[in-house]
Amino acid sequence: MTLTHPTITRTLSGKSLIAGVFGWPVTHSRSPRLHGYWLQHYGIDGAYIPFATAPEQFEQALRSLPHLGFRGANVTLPHKEHAFEIVDHLTDRARRIGAVNTVIVEENGTLRGDNTDGFGFVEHLQASIRDWRAATGSAVVLGAGGAARAIITALLEAGVPQIRLVNRTRARADDVAAAISAQSYERVSFAGRITVHDWDQRGELLADAALLVNTTQLGLAGQPPLEIDLTALPKTAVVDDIVYVPLETPLLAAARKRGNRVVDGLGMLLHQARPGFAAWFKVEPEVTPAFRDFVLADIPGAR
Ligand code: NAP
Repeated sequence: MTLTHPTITRTLSGKSLIAGVFGWPVTHSRSPRLHGYWLQHYGIDGAYIPFATAPEQFEQALRSLPHLGFRGANVTLPHKEHAFEIVDHLTDRARRIGAVNTVIVEENGTLRGDNTDGFGFVEHLQASIRDWRAATGSAVVLGAGGAARAIITALLEAGVPQIRLVNRTRARADDVAAAISAQSYERVSFAGRITVHDWDQRGELLADAALLVNTTQLGLAGQPPLEIDLTALPKTAVVDDIVYVPLETPLLAAARKRGNRVVDGLGMLLHQARPGFAAWFKVEPEVTPAFRDFVLADIPGAR
């Protein structure tokens, strides 16, 4: 299927379902392309619009969604924590992560905040490694930024017994571990399931690990590569890098070479978009090879 920009090929009606993405800047966002593909693919009378919104205008802009008849919006940098403060209701996973990347306008005009980043990560991991089981063993997570917090939360919810968290700035990892460990719900406790370690211990921590996840910027095009000695990592472990430019990072190339199964970062981006699209446009979208190729074609240097 040849796809062009949806606003060029489709005419909107008065009943169009409208959503968008808030960012500052927003030009780098892949979300209009992702949602535009699905809108066209599923023949939906709808649109998805990028909004460049400065931080000082963000609250007013977000609060305007119900008044403008919007179904909701994605929220990207730097607004994710601010959106968490503004929305009227939070999903459990957004509350646990402490940030919002998806906002849904409810029937009564209130704003529900969700966070689908961890969902996207685990969905892609499970889709890529069909026999991956969370309970198999410990995960080593490198990095303690916003993405790490979403991923750690999702891995614990999925049933990973123990997370070994390593960050260049140890205090940041301590804060993330403390915030997540304080959470418990429906008889599930996160307490005691995260241990924090110094950055220079990252190689030795790989012994017995079932999963290694890079959530740092290391390996991203233009950044230094991630330096880590994989010798201690079992060959059965899965290695997942959420950096997707390039798609095969030096970490994934090294892991693949020694026989580990690897998962690239693009699928997390694709899968995190599914819950928002389903809520706004009333169709459960699929992540297909054609969809992935369409998104990948617009990411310079990813291949
Ligand atoms: P963030 O909040 O800014 O966190 C950045 C992390 O990278 C921190 O842990 C930081 O450590 C670490 N870091 C940066 N430079 C480093 C260096 N030179 N040495 C060691 N550690 C370093 O960013 P984020 O939102 O979590 O995103 C992190 C990465 O994930 C980015 O590359 C982003 O593109 C990618 N990402 C991918 C997806 C996806 O869908 N695949 C989604 C979200 C993010 P310090 O705390 O010490 O600074």
